[in-house]
Amino acid sequence: MIATAGLVDFHCHLDLYPDHAAAVQDAETAGVFTLAVTTTPRAWPRNHELAQCTKHVRAALGLHPQLVAERENEIELWDRHLAETRYVGEVGLDAGPRFFKSLDAQKRVFQHVLQRCAQAGDKIITVHSIRTAKAVLDLVEAHLPPERGKIVLHWFTGTKSETKRALELGCYFSINAAMLHNERHTSMVQEIPLDRLLTETDGPFTSVGERCSNPSDVALVVEALGRLYQLPAKQVAKSVRDNLRDLVSE
Ligand code: MN
Repeated sequence: MIATAGLVDFHCHLDLYPDHAAAVQDAETAGVFTLAVTTTPRAWPRNHELAQCTKHVRAALGLHPQLVAERENEIELWDRHLAETRYVGEVGLDAGPRFFKSLDAQKRVFQHVLQRCAQAGDKIITVHSIRTAKAVLDLVEAHLPPERGKIVLHWFTGTKSETKRALELGCYFSINAAMLHNERHTSMVQEIPLDRLLTETDGPFTSVGERCSNPSDVALVVEALGRLYQLPAKQVAKSVRDNLRDLVSE
């Protein structure tokens, strides 16, 4: 197993682990650059507070598409916090069977998020796109010019042509281990050039054996990507770290 220091978990719900503060501290101790995403803007202040005392953890301001049906009005709170952060998410669209009914509201919220980010400039946004790759890319193309912000597609499962379109729009992709267990998704991942790849766990929503993933488990993603790209894991880890540096310094 490769060392965890300097690895990247660009999408993890640290506030959904049994002990939030301990989860932040564990990521910090492991030296894994971790983006702590949130599902409601109400969770932002505590996430922000805990991340501020760390070198490796950053918090992102989100309003999850699966919560929009009940929480669309929290977009006002999201607006109020936006100036406090460079990182936004989890946001996006979800047209899975349980959330399809709120898709119109989700589109209103996601469009608003993209427009506010474009106005503010310099935001980095981690985006959910279950069964909505085309709609997500349409909204990104319409409302977030590439020079006004960066999109990282989290657990993207679009087609190869949608992947190509996302690359043309300047998107990055954060890849998790579960994606690489699926042959169709693996062949999509192979379309992504090494310089647009990031890694994630989406913990605690993914698992390693019987337990929930934590940020250090991105080592498994790095190793799987190494096998896929036929490169040493260390080289993949370095590319991902370089990509993160490019993303945040642009
Ligand atoms: Mn997530």
